Amino acid sequence: MAGVLRIVATPIGNLKDISERAKEILAESSLILAEDTRHSGHLLAALGITKPRLVSCNQHNELERAPVVRERLALGENVALISDAGAPAISDPGGRLVDAIAKEGYRVEAIPGPSAVIAALMGAGLHTHRYVFLGFLPKKGKERTRLIEDAMRAGFALVIYEAPKRVNDTLVDLHALCGPRRVVVARELTKQFETFHRGLLGGELTPPFVALGEAVIVVEAGDAAKALAEIDPLERIQTYFAQGLSKKEIAKRIARELRMSGADAYKLVLSLTANK
Ligand code: SAM
Repeated sequence: MAGVLRIVATPIGNLKDISERAKEILAESSLILAEDTRHSGHLLAALGITKPRLVSCNQHNELERAPVVRERLALGENVALISDAGAPAISDPGGRLVDAIAKEGYRVEAIPGPSAVIAALMGAGLHTHRYVFLGFLPKKGKERTRLIEDAMRAGFALVIYEAPKRVNDTLVDLHALCGPRRVVVARELTKQFETFHRGLLGGELTPPFVALGEAVIVVEAGDAAKALAEIDPLERIQTYFAQGLSKKEIAKRIARELRMSGADAYKLVLSLTANK
């Protein structure tokens, strides 16, 4: 009987998140394809899997690995594929190899487990019943704008993988295109400093975002106009006032959040803080 190619999810931070099934499968595989063999060698050693037969399988050589996988499967041996962290093929190599092997009639099994997209959605607490996973956005240009606009107009929540240093710029772009929707930045998931930074696009996050570790952005689904109508300007102004911001700075933020002119926002701030 031919062997099976198993696509195995591994932890995204907390080693204890590896499943019993994943451990068993990795221990019994005759060959393990790994994005970075050194990195995965450490993981396997920590799981007590000694002397695994590891071969690299990354975005550059993924398809070149098909022959060696086929050879093993034909001999009736099982092969596993892992990535550096989380689920292979989710913004990671794996998909093209699965396609090549499945087309040849071999059996492929998915061994689910940790993945940042799911962990971020689980802790976000937003309306994400229907979401679209955009992975890493193009860094700039029309394709970036179109992707966000299409997903937003279709009424889906958005899930985006982003480098921490780029999170703030991406939040600015998301605000410009989606308006003031609720947003959560999930940082360092399953790790010691796991934090969900919650807030409104165009406003401040609580706790304030720090550009450290790894991050996923989740934007709530919904109607931008409705979200705008739900913002209470007085509540926003009072919050910023309590944070000690100047009236000018508050007006700047309110203008951005409520999509109004700077002059109108300043008038509003003055009228609502007349005796402060
Ligand atoms: N295959 C992985 C998965 O299933 O989540 C994703 C790999 S992708 C190359 C790496 C991106 O996933 C990071 O830039 C970040 O956006 C997200 N990510 C991975 N681990 C994370 C973590 N512990 N906390 C937050 N985001 C994480």
